[in-house]
Amino acid sequence: MLAPALLQLQLPRVFRTTIMSSRALDYLVIGGGSGGLASARRAAALGARTAVVESGKLGGTCVNVGCVPKKVMWNTAVHSEYLHDHADYGFHTSDVKFHWKTIKEKRDAYVSRLNDIYRNNLDKAQIELIQGHAVFTSDPEPTLEVNGQKYTAPHILIATGGHPCIPPDSEIPGASLGITSDGFFELEELPRCSVIVGAGYIAVEIAGILSALGSKTSLLIRKDKVLRTFDSMISANCTQELMNAGVEVWKYSKVKSVTKTAAGLELSVICSPPGRKPAFSTIQDVDCLLWAIGRDPNTDGLNLGNLGIQLDEKGHIVVDEFQNTSQKGIYAIGDVCGRALLTPVAIAAGRRLAHRLFEGQADSKLDYSNIPTVVFSHPPIGTVGLTEEEAVTQYGKANIKTYTTSFTPMYHAVTERKTKCIMKLVCAGEKEKVVGLHMQGLGCDEMLQGFAVAVKMGATKADFDNTVAIHPTSAEELVTLR
Ligand SMILES: Cc1cc2nc3c(=O)[nH]c(=O)nc-3n(C[C@H](O)[C@H](O)[C@H](O)COP(=O)(O)OP(=O)(O)OC[C@H]3O[C@@H](n4cnc5c(N)ncnc54)[C@H](O)[C@@H]3O)c2cc1C
Repeated sequence: MLAPALLQLQLPRVFRTTIMSSRALDYLVIGGGSGGLASARRAAALGARTAVVESGKLGGTCVNVGCVPKKVMWNTAVHSEYLHDHADYGFHTSDVKFHWKTIKEKRDAYVSRLNDIYRNNLDKAQIELIQGHAVFTSDPEPTLEVNGQKYTAPHILIATGGHPCIPPDSEIPGASLGITSDGFFELEELPRCSVIVGAGYIAVEIAGILSALGSKTSLLIRKDKVLRTFDSMISANCTQELMNAGVEVWKYSKVKSVTKTAAGLELSVICSPPGRKPAFSTIQDVDCLLWAIGRDPNTDGLNLGNLGIQLDEKGHIVVDEFQNTSQKGIYAIGDVCGRALLTPVAIAAGRRLAHRLFEGQADSKLDYSNIPTVVFSHPPIGTVGLTEEEAVTQYGKANIKTYTTSFTPMYHAVTERKTKCIMKLVCAGEKEKVVGLHMQGLGCDEMLQGFAVAVKMGATKADFDNTVAIHPTSAEELVTLR
């Protein structure tokens, strides 16, 4: 890295003004979320002079309005679920009351502590935090402007994440009366009557939480199942479990309009299953309408047009396998790229990029295959690798063998309330390499990580069979499938 004074001597006059008024660093990271912070800290540990620009709270989506507060609420909902089983296990608890405010305050305090920890970690790593909104300028060299100050670096990382979207009122009148997952974490009370629109994992998780805690919950989906990109067995089972748990699933439904009434919101819903009557319905007295219909990348306010950085049709930044954008020296990771929108993915891609840029590890990149995923539904879902449908497309039907099981976990041996556990192994070729593992049931969230290691290592069905079972668990079923 050349000192700024040296650069001034070598560059034409037009560049000098820029350089003289800009702060120069080795690595500039836009976005202090999961990916940006991980990449910045690794780069600083490798000796790079690093700064992070963050316009909101440190920790980004995951810490403030994503994984962390969501998991706290899921844990809360699991308590509520298990209350139904207390009497069966011999505990007679009467007059149990739930105070939303108590858990909200504790959750907010935990998130605040995490914000502070992230701040301290930056200080310890001697990473400069620039608080403000970063915009690329039209200077000839890639330059950022934050609060009127310019910054340059030979390496700039865009890790700006995304935000939840709401349909425009021009498309669905009154849509803006609803909230998104961000607003869910601001709710001061448990809604009496909630309507969640969407079929993805965020819709499923929030519907499950609200319903378990006692809100009368409806889930509006466009087709007949939730989680349609998951293995069809999971998609079908999760839809059924939602209904078993009391969520009213409105299939083939779309919101037509939303109006505010004295009692709350009134939703006019178009229901369009073949032959369904009436085709129109209304849901009344809704005090929480929540859109979980997708997330848009945070690329709009960055002025990327100045640099000619290539975006896809949805505005995600197009990157190659090394996270390079179409502009040399500018990289992107995490949700802003629109691929595998998960915290550990953003972190892993960010760290590997730092090793490539500042440690000379030319091959350092993230392998995006076999990324394990958990959906915190009730019961939770764990999945890694190819769905059966993807495996058939990739290997041909004749080369795929599946092993499935469905059972009632032993936890429910004495309870009136039941949930199922379902499991599927998708195996390919003569050696029956396990290319997909899908499950939903109690404990599947914690069960997955170890199995994901096996799948990543290329384990075969025989390897699974050669592993002695742990009894009595649900996990043992995965090594005894026939
Ligand atoms: C409700 C919900 C639940 C989720 N649950 C899980 C889960 O259980 N497990 C999981 O792995 N993932 C989960 N996710 C996804 C996870 O949160 C994201 O994949 C992850 O946060 C992406 O990290 P990122 O670094 O790409 O972006 P983010 O964490 O979103 O960070 C981007 C940061 O950039 C900042 N920023 C944006 N533009 C600018 C700018 N111009 N200048 C300065 N700063 C800027 C933003 O303020 C933000 O802090 C969940 C997401 C949601 C919404």
